[in-house]
Amino acid sequence: MTAEGFAFEVEARDGAARAGRLTTPHGVVETPCFMPVGTKATVKAVEPRELRELGAQIVLGNTYHLYFRPGTEIVGAHGGLHGFMQWDGPILTDSGGFQVFSLEGTRVMREDGVEFSSVYDGSRHVFTPQLAMRIQEELGADVIMAFDQCAPGTLPRAELEAAVERTTRWAAACKEAHGRRDQLLVGIVQGGADEALRRRSAAEITGVGFDAYAIGGLSVGERGEEMLSTVELMDELLPRDRLRYFMGIGDPVGILDVIARGVDVFDCVFPTRMARTGTALLRGGGRLNLRNARFAADLAALEDGCDCYTCRTFTRSYLRHLVTQKEMLGAQLLSLHNLRVLLRLTSDARRAISAGRFAEFANDVAGRDSAGG
Ligand SMILES: [Zn+2]
Repeated sequence: MTAEGFAFEVEARDGAARAGRLTTPHGVVETPCFMPVGTKATVKAVEPRELRELGAQIVLGNTYHLYFRPGTEIVGAHGGLHGFMQWDGPILTDSGGFQVFSLEGTRVMREDGVEFSSVYDGSRHVFTPQLAMRIQEELGADVIMAFDQCAPGTLPRAELEAAVERTTRWAAACKEAHGRRDQLLVGIVQGGADEALRRRSAAEITGVGFDAYAIGGLSVGERGEEMLSTVELMDELLPRDRLRYFMGIGDPVGILDVIARGVDVFDCVFPTRMARTGTALLRGGGRLNLRNARFAADLAALEDGCDCYTCRTFTRSYLRHLVTQKEMLGAQLLSLHNLRVLLRLTSDARRAISAGRFAEFANDVAGRDSAGG
């Protein structure tokens, strides 16, 4: 690796699935690994000490939101994001590209970047590769992302192709602008579900050369089969000795599907967002809607076999009471459970890969509680 203080090693393979180890200046991340999302420097409703207890190894912060609120100067006054949010483990920040392209109805594409209105006060801004690097250097995360055009696979091909070309130019600009040696810069491959464009983007982005690669632009509108075949193609095209990040997947079955195809790390707001709507994720992919009246007098634990604080301590009846009364604790306890489901799933997946029985493990998990209710 070119970044100082970093190393990545694939320790075991089982089919295309990999068990690896990413070393960062703030600690080791054992992969496969689910990364909880802390958009505004907080994983919503979960304390950093709870994240540790849950087995979280690395958390995400969001460049777009932190740039506007509170601003990099204030984060910088805390010595960076680690000091600001009091998470001393590894942190990854995204580039802001996803928000600029997905949240904005007023954006204007420019060759040097994207002009858009802030969601906070409507003021006009331009995000460029250079600015995305500067913000992420000031936030000080361990792993940072190149600024890309996140183009959904549903775009017309000509637009998808233009996005691939722009993403390559911007990737090169990011690499040139990035000055901090103690950060790992990740290149992002785009191209939707179009095989030729994916091949082209992978060739161009690996040609620019990064220490790790992300598969972007999936989970934003394409069908499941196309998504999985694209991930399979990435397994063939990306260097086998580099970390691979699938951006935006957070349901148990989907996670096992991408691990099976050679992905190392992934993130999603899904588990904590579902918790705030009163929904519990189950290990096998099912869900429980705690607002359902059938849980009113249900004295069982939330999920049989789960080792989280919520499942060890409370009944479904109590959790339903909190959710229906809109008590804050309901969202907190469900967030703990939902995160633990994914963190335990991925650490179990790691053990299964090391033991050479990942396919059997994934089948067992997917066959369990998949119905939910
Ligand atoms: Zn639980």
